[in-house]
Amino acid sequence: MKPDLFEAPDYYNIDDLLTEEHKLIRDAARAWVKRDVSPIIEEAAQKAEFPKSIIPGLAEIGAFGPYIPEQYGGAGLDQISYGLIMQEIERGDSGVRSTASVQSSLVMYPIWKYGNEDQRNKYLPKLASGEWMGSFGLTEPDHGSNPAGMVTSFKDKGDHYLLNGAKLWISNSPFCDVAVVWAKNEEGRIHGLIVERGMEGFSTPETHNKWSLRASATGELIFQDVKVPKENLLPNKSGLGAPLGCLDSARYGIAWGAIGAAMDCYDTALRYSKERIQFGKPIGAFQLQQKKLAEMITEITKAQLLALRLGQLKNEDKATSAQISMAKRNNVDMAIKIAREARQMLGGMGITGEYPIMRHMMNLESVITYEGTHDIHLLITGLDITGLSAFK
Ligand SMILES: Cc1cc2nc3c(=O)[nH]c(=O)nc-3n(C[C@H](O)[C@H](O)[C@H](O)COP(=O)(O)OP(=O)(O)OC[C@H]3O[C@@H](n4cnc5c(N)ncnc54)[C@H](O)[C@@H]3O)c2cc1C
Repeated sequence: MKPDLFEAPDYYNIDDLLTEEHKLIRDAARAWVKRDVSPIIEEAAQKAEFPKSIIPGLAEIGAFGPYIPEQYGGAGLDQISYGLIMQEIERGDSGVRSTASVQSSLVMYPIWKYGNEDQRNKYLPKLASGEWMGSFGLTEPDHGSNPAGMVTSFKDKGDHYLLNGAKLWISNSPFCDVAVVWAKNEEGRIHGLIVERGMEGFSTPETHNKWSLRASATGELIFQDVKVPKENLLPNKSGLGAPLGCLDSARYGIAWGAIGAAMDCYDTALRYSKERIQFGKPIGAFQLQQKKLAEMITEITKAQLLALRLGQLKNEDKATSAQISMAKRNNVDMAIKIAREARQMLGGMGITGEYPIMRHMMNLESVITYEGTHDIHLLITGLDITGLSAFK
């Protein structure tokens, strides 16, 4: 892969709207990605391996629990800092950002918000330091967009719960130490349970042959009569709203992360357009290529403003789930379109691992599907503005 010469576009001086702390946090994450992610990520993706060597670095830049209070080992940052960290990590690779998103928003967040003090103290510091890695089990083989239909369930056996079922498409599953698993009790109510590696009957087979998020490990969570101690049930929230609350936090991070992938594609294509000579001119001198670049920077700028405003609303605890859906959907769609256009601008070179674009493009095919598909997020906006559900 070529050396990482990334320069972040900021066409509307959005940096002026950030605090000094935001910029310091963002720049530290950016420098870490350049130093520790860019040199190894192409090979990891080609080999379809999650590069575990970067776990301590992710912890160091605050990517594990950016907004979790410091007393539990988190970084205690605001939501805009969280977004900026996700942006920078996904500038490196969506798979790496996925690992950090799952750890923070889908594992640490529910333990922090829905857990008790003992659970917070037991799990959060180890998750924040990366000593333990987590996964989040909601999706099942027959229940993706409709998680309410889940069949994974647990029975009260007096001194423990007995858990049975299976989850599919689970990021981090092959190496997770703990899994936050959503399952129905005997009354059909959804609860979160913390399942630990080593519990008898719990296995995590890896899903192979992905063409997307190859540097992120994905797999199953299988529960065959797993005895889960009663103290591992998250006591403070139940029902579908509990996992959906986690998804809100993760989707918010994705809205920022996708900007990072788009910025990398744009920056790569812009540089290439000035260097690549055809018909005696740099290809950037041709109107058709300028149209692509001009539209890319316009869309990136709009996405940056959307994410920043959403971050302000999140900081004030005012962001609605529907607003988060809109930003996730728009920004991932923006990024995938930019990746496709940027790939074309590099001609044949665009399909190689010399440049990051094809990897971003393939990664974004997962990002547009997970955490609620592109279509489902549109229907959430539709429901929000009409009051009429078109999907359930
Ligand atoms: C790489 C990867 C990592 C993932 N990581 C995790 C994870 O860590 N934890 C986890 O729990 N899940 C994870 N997922 C699962 C992901 O969230 C689901 O794939 C997603 O929710 C879609 O579910 P599905 O794949 O079953 O598609 P389906 O729900 O079967 O949808 C298929 C198509 O039908 C459309 N559709 C469905 N219902 C409707 C409707 N009512 N109206 C209109 N269109 C509809 C969808 O938009 C989609 O286009 C991951 C997925 C991938 C690919």
